[in-house]
Amino acid sequence: MSHRALVTKAVWSAVYLLFILAPLLALLAGTLPPSRDVWTEFSVALGYSGLAMMGLQFGLTARFRYVTDPWGEDVIYHFHRRVSLIAVGLVVAHPLILLAAGSEKLAPPDALRDVPLGAVFAVLSLGSLILLVAMALWRTHLKISYETWHATHIVLAVVAVAGGVLHMVGWGFYLADPLKRALWIGLAVFWIGLLLYVRIVKPLFMLRRPYRVSALRAERGDSLTLVMRPDGHAGFRFRPDQFGWLTLWGSPFRITGHPFSFSSSAEAPDGHVEMTIRSLGDFTSAIGQVPVGRRVYLDGPYGAFTIGNPTDMHVLIAGGIGITPMMSMIRTLADRGDRRPVVLLYGSKDWESVTFREELEALQARLDLRVVHVLTQPPPGWTGEQGRITADVFKRHLPPRYADHEYFICGPDVMMDAIEAALGEMQVPLSRYHSERYSFV
Ligand SMILES: Cc1cc2nc3c(=O)[nH]c(=O)nc-3n(C[C@H](O)[C@H](O)[C@H](O)COP(=O)(O)OP(=O)(O)OC[C@H]3O[C@@H](n4cnc5c(N)ncnc54)[C@H](O)[C@@H]3O)c2cc1C
Repeated sequence: MSHRALVTKAVWSAVYLLFILAPLLALLAGTLPPSRDVWTEFSVALGYSGLAMMGLQFGLTARFRYVTDPWGEDVIYHFHRRVSLIAVGLVVAHPLILLAAGSEKLAPPDALRDVPLGAVFAVLSLGSLILLVAMALWRTHLKISYETWHATHIVLAVVAVAGGVLHMVGWGFYLADPLKRALWIGLAVFWIGLLLYVRIVKPLFMLRRPYRVSALRAERGDSLTLVMRPDGHAGFRFRPDQFGWLTLWGSPFRITGHPFSFSSSAEAPDGHVEMTIRSLGDFTSAIGQVPVGRRVYLDGPYGAFTIGNPTDMHVLIAGGIGITPMMSMIRTLADRGDRRPVVLLYGSKDWESVTFREELEALQARLDLRVVHVLTQPPPGWTGEQGRITADVFKRHLPPRYADHEYFICGPDVMMDAIEAALGEMQVPLSRYHSERYSFV
């Protein structure tokens, strides 16, 4: 990892901690109300910490390129999921500790109208949080579509955070001081402002920079390539292997865009971009119905998974549709006349479904590329590699001093886990391999 990337990571980590800790420390500044018993104070500290962490989730998912680039979007989403669980754990622990300590604050009131507003907001916030976590963890079991889940997730997150802040303001204790109250209300406005930025400001920019579908190409392996050209603007520059969020139907204000890697060369002179999409679900199986000339929207480019480091050899490892970022890399290297050796280890089901098979064959004449196909269902008489890509396959096709090469991996999660483990066994340091996961959720 470059020195610059390390510094950027350190700076953003410090900013993250500052945003979480500063509002908590601010509560302790100035005059404080008389302290309560230790369990009450402890549980309140947990509640505030949990809320500060939850609020910042809006920042993690706001797709700020400068923030996400040093890590990669998949790592940020992974962090988002993990931190959310911790934050929710802290928030839920707050009333549980009060309950266990027998706090009179949780004693049921005589009449419903006696319930303080602060408590109503607490129930609203907690209820939304529990629902949000249950839906995030068991979305597929509950058979909730990705789009419904995504919209509900956003609404529940806003209700949970707004409810939490209103609960604190309503309770008054630490926020009785107008300055501290203003700070926390300001923070809540900032968090929700991040969401409005992603959902309103960004789409407005995208609306002014549309693309048009100029061709649709059928590919092997139940896939289609969508060729898109900038409509009335110069388009964006992307690095090979980056990805964009595609909105095909409707406006960019639609909640759910779908992420796809760019499969075309980053050197295209006219700003056109291509995405190669395998039919897997509702959205991807409707790609074939997209008429040529249709206006579409692209939010991008994103992703830290990219070539460029000087190295003696690039080793690209693709499984199934994970070939798309590798294709972008190979096409770009060919367009740049880059003669560094590239080995592509490419796992597919069978010979007929090898996406980009013929083009890869042809590209071997334009750059120092060797393609090793690994088939799980090889045809009769197949003499090449079969089964899965394992450490043995690496050893048969790569020159030793494995730690000197740069590895790029993209494919199904199980395959990526296995390959990362194999590279570990081969003493390849973490800094030498780069993974792109196709599952953010
Ligand atoms: C960084 C990245 C790059 C990708 N590049 C490619 C590519 O080049 N080619 C390709 O064919 N596929 C790619 N994918 C996968 C592609 O985004 C999903 O297959 C597609 O969004 C599934 O949508 P669907 O409605 O057809 O399927 P569904 O059956 O609705 O979804 C299948 C699964 O895909 C995930 N998913 C669905 N919608 C979204 C969404 N909007 N955002 C995030 N995840 C979602 C969910 O886990 C869902 O369970 C990429 C994914 C990521 C994260």
